[in-house]
Amino acid sequence: MKTLFSLYLVLAVILSQYFSAYFFSKGRTSYRKAFSALVFCISIYLFGYLMIINSSNLQEMIFWNQVQYFGLPFISVLWLTVALLYTRTICSLKTSTALLLFAIPVLTFLIRLTNSWHHFFYTKWGIKEYFGYYSLYMERGLWYYVNISYTILCLFLTVIIYFIEYLRNKARYIKSHFLIFLFASLLPLIGITLILFTFDQFSIDYSALIMPISLLIISYGIFKYDFLDIRTLARETIFENNFAGMVVLGPGRRIIDYNKAAKNFFDAINISLNNYPLEQVINNDPKLLDIFNSEETRNLTLMINGKKRFYEIDTVQLGDPEDGNIKMLKAIRDVTEERKTQEKLKFLAAIDSLSGLNNRAELMSLAQKYLSIAIKENKDFSLLVMDLDNFKIVNDTFGHGAGDEVIRVMGRLIKTYFRKNDIAGRIGGEEFAVVLKDASLEEAKKKAELFREVIADRKIIYEEQEISITVSIGVAAIHNAAKNIYNIGDILKMADNALYNAKAKGRNSVATFKS
Ligand code: GH3
Ligand code: MG
Ligand code: MG
Repeated sequence: MKTLFSLYLVLAVILSQYFSAYFFSKGRTSYRKAFSALVFCISIYLFGYLMIINSSNLQEMIFWNQVQYFGLPFISVLWLTVALLYTRTICSLKTSTALLLFAIPVLTFLIRLTNSWHHFFYTKWGIKEYFGYYSLYMERGLWYYVNISYTILCLFLTVIIYFIEYLRNKARYIKSHFLIFLFASLLPLIGITLILFTFDQFSIDYSALIMPISLLIISYGIFKYDFLDIRTLARETIFENNFAGMVVLGPGRRIIDYNKAAKNFFDAINISLNNYPLEQVINNDPKLLDIFNSEETRNLTLMINGKKRFYEIDTVQLGDPEDGNIKMLKAIRDVTEERKTQEKLKFLAAIDSLSGLNNRAELMSLAQKYLSIAIKENKDFSLLVMDLDNFKIVNDTFGHGAGDEVIRVMGRLIKTYFRKNDIAGRIGGEEFAVVLKDASLEEAKKKAELFREVIADRKIIYEEQEISITVSIGVAAIHNAAKNIYNIGDILKMADNALYNAKAKGRNSVATFKS
């Protein structure tokens, strides 16, 4: 009998230690951590009982009984904590709740530890023989009853919580889930009741015998419903290690689960996730909340560690949306590198590397866009086309490098001299164009004249040589754009025409287009 008991307990201790470690390793959600602690406490308690029944004298028995109390007082309250977290009756274990729940168990532990001074817990103990083996026999003190009442209360509440959850849920799958937990929590309650009324007769700790069974049932429940099988495990691994942050939302947008990447994302913006509703987690950033509440793909730009990062937030509906149980997955994809590459490509495709101005294609496209607006809004629109005079001579006299430098300087001068919202580009070898928004022919001509002077006065230094250049400018403008429908090609032709005239006038001059 004793050997059988011992064997059973050894097996239970090993199994519970294994479960405790296993659930701890899976312990992202708070209930799994609590469950791991519960199983650990049970294993201490069972180990103590195993040692008691194998002890040969009273001293040893009392010692192992003391060891039991390192785990025993916390079992029922952890049982309740698991139920509270598992059913999401509470979202996380706050310090105040923990203090309230664990006060009596901690006191029990301390009182049992110091029992020899005050005998509050056991008033007397001795050794008795039952069915051929010796067991500890105790007379219960006041605190023993406080503790056992609290234990029963916790287990009773646990059973009630699971029962409510069982009634509340309509889906059969979830119903059976809570039924398993309900049944598993009823067993220790029965065990304790048996101890209270029959311990004196047989000195058998029924709880210790029942606990492993109820542990197995709960573990089965968690395995079945949480981890299921290898396929689920594989899916979970993919979920967990996905580069995209993923947050699973349940009814009421409550956070059911999230992966490492999502945790990192929210950590970086100082938001801690738990199983609260989304509104509560993101309560101080309405814009972010709006993005997460939206069911369309949304873009998000954030400064993280002083660096700008771009994210794309997608929504995937889970399950059947018809059942009214809104479940969804929010995927947070970091698209910073993609965006940077795109921007770089766009920049490379649009910008002339020598002058730093728009290239011809980009200038034409931007100018056409603006021309369409000017036509729609009946605004003025002017275009300058500039060509450096005798540029061949610059190249021939100072070398091609000097010519390049002149083009670079021209780019810089155009950028500084014209307004930010004017559109400037290099449209040929040493030819440039500037669209002056809302400028009449007169204004454009004036600007061109001033710019011509700026260039003529400018000395460009290249390898200690001084280079002087001049520019010829052709100006075309349309007044009240809506009257005639033009495209940018027509206007460029007009300005080219004027430029030809400026060159003909003897260069370093400005000419306007006259139709
Ligand atoms: P004009 O006053 O009539 O405009 O005389 P020009 O010498 O400027 O004549 P044209 O416009 O026909 O010649 C342009 C020259 O500019 C020809 C080419 O060698 C030079 N060129 C074009 N692109 C570049 C460039 O990227 N770098 C340098 N260094 N020279 C260029
Ligand atoms: Mg030229
Ligand atoms: Mg030219």
